[in-house]
Amino acid sequence: MSGPDGRSAEADPTLILSMTLRIEQDIFVVRQRGREVADAVGFEHQDQIRIATALSEVGRLLLSCGGPADVAFFAQTGGLRPALRIEVRPAAAVRVGDLPGGHLAAVGRLVDTLEMDDDETAMVVRMSRRFPATAPSPGPERIAELRAELEASLPGTPLDELAVQNEQLLTALEQVRTHRDHLARLNEELEETNRGVMALYGQLSEELEETNRGVVALYAELDEKSSQLRAASEAKSRFLANVSHELRAPVTAIIGLGRLMADPASDPLTPEQTTHVELIRSSAADLLSLVNDLLDLAKAESGRIEPNWSDVDLRMVFGQLRGTLRALSTPDVRLEVEDPPAPSVIRSDEVLLTRVLRNLLHNGLKFTESGEVRMRAETVAGGWRVSVVDTGPGIPAELHQRIFEEFYQVPGTAKAGTGLGLPYARRLAGLLGGSLELTSEPGRGSTFTLVLPVAGDGA
Ligand code: ADP
Repeated sequence: MSGPDGRSAEADPTLILSMTLRIEQDIFVVRQRGREVADAVGFEHQDQIRIATALSEVGRLLLSCGGPADVAFFAQTGGLRPALRIEVRPAAAVRVGDLPGGHLAAVGRLVDTLEMDDDETAMVVRMSRRFPATAPSPGPERIAELRAELEASLPGTPLDELAVQNEQLLTALEQVRTHRDHLARLNEELEETNRGVMALYGQLSEELEETNRGVVALYAELDEKSSQLRAASEAKSRFLANVSHELRAPVTAIIGLGRLMADPASDPLTPEQTTHVELIRSSAADLLSLVNDLLDLAKAESGRIEPNWSDVDLRMVFGQLRGTLRALSTPDVRLEVEDPPAPSVIRSDEVLLTRVLRNLLHNGLKFTESGEVRMRAETVAGGWRVSVVDTGPGIPAELHQRIFEEFYQVPGTAKAGTGLGLPYARRLAGLLGGSLELTSEPGRGSTFTLVLPVAGDGA
């Protein structure tokens, strides 16, 4: 057997085997040889069958159209796509146009490429299949070896090839059955998984719904509790306001009666009676100041205090406070009220503002044993900071919030008072659109800072 076009002499592609297809029985031989060559160069079983089938189909077609044909197998080892190439050339002058169309398209799917060309004398069918990635493409020595092996081996009879083909068919059928069973099993598993997912989904939705119901109920309860709390706080403020108001008249009467009894124009009292009446009067005065503080706080809490907005000159307010509180300074404690920088007009309520500052100065003077109490004001972005700084005992950090709670007094500060002044002052600061803060350390005095916006009413 020789190469169909003398290409066997070329280095690449290298001829592995060539043969001639003369009669119908040869198709079986060609098929068998195709399988053997494919096996020899490393194709796996399935690919061997594909290549052999494609080759026998092409051979059958050409034989039926134009008689004998030459078949040659080449190894294409160079280039980007090392592949097994097969060429089939009819001996007679058959042209591509003589072949019935359509059939070879299906055959083409069994290999990587399948082309048909006419050259000067006849047509040629070329097909190729890339060498498998797992087997290295054979080198020249290996090809020479293969060629020798294949030439030495005698092709079997058509009956042998038929038996092999039957066996392959059975194997293919078995594989199809296994695949089908596998697919059925997979389908079953998928269905089961789907059922599981649906069940899980249902369970999750139920849990979610239940959680949602819980959250809704919780919110309803929370709403109810906060409206109860609001109602309780309003009731407390109303109660304080009413009680304080009702107490004011009798306490004032007691003070008045005490004053009358101590009056020199009244019947003379024994010294002991005078002491008692004095005690009654001072207790009643303390009670009256408590009642007044309570009433103020209750009013501020109930929101019934509506600031009376007007232009307030801080210098004037500072001047008045300096005048009224001067009497409280002692040789040991100086009161220093610095003049605010001009212009010092802000939008505020003069009466409420004066009350807050008086309260702070009053506390400073009350708790400071020696040194000074100083009030000063400075402008900050969008407002003013008014600080009341004293050299008093100072307040531990953990009590900085508590002293703003009603009735709270720092233990050990045995001074007359109700513990209502600071909560009241903070409420008023809020009503004026500002805030009241404290920085203090025990032994280093206290600084109460009132921050006020320039336009407290937002004007
Ligand atoms: P009161 O002065 O009537 O006791 P306040 O609400 O004004 O009530 O103050 C609460 C407590 O805060 C005071 O009892 C005192 O213990 C502490 N306190 C307030 N101001 C000062 C201050 N300048 N220096 C030290 N302690 C203070």
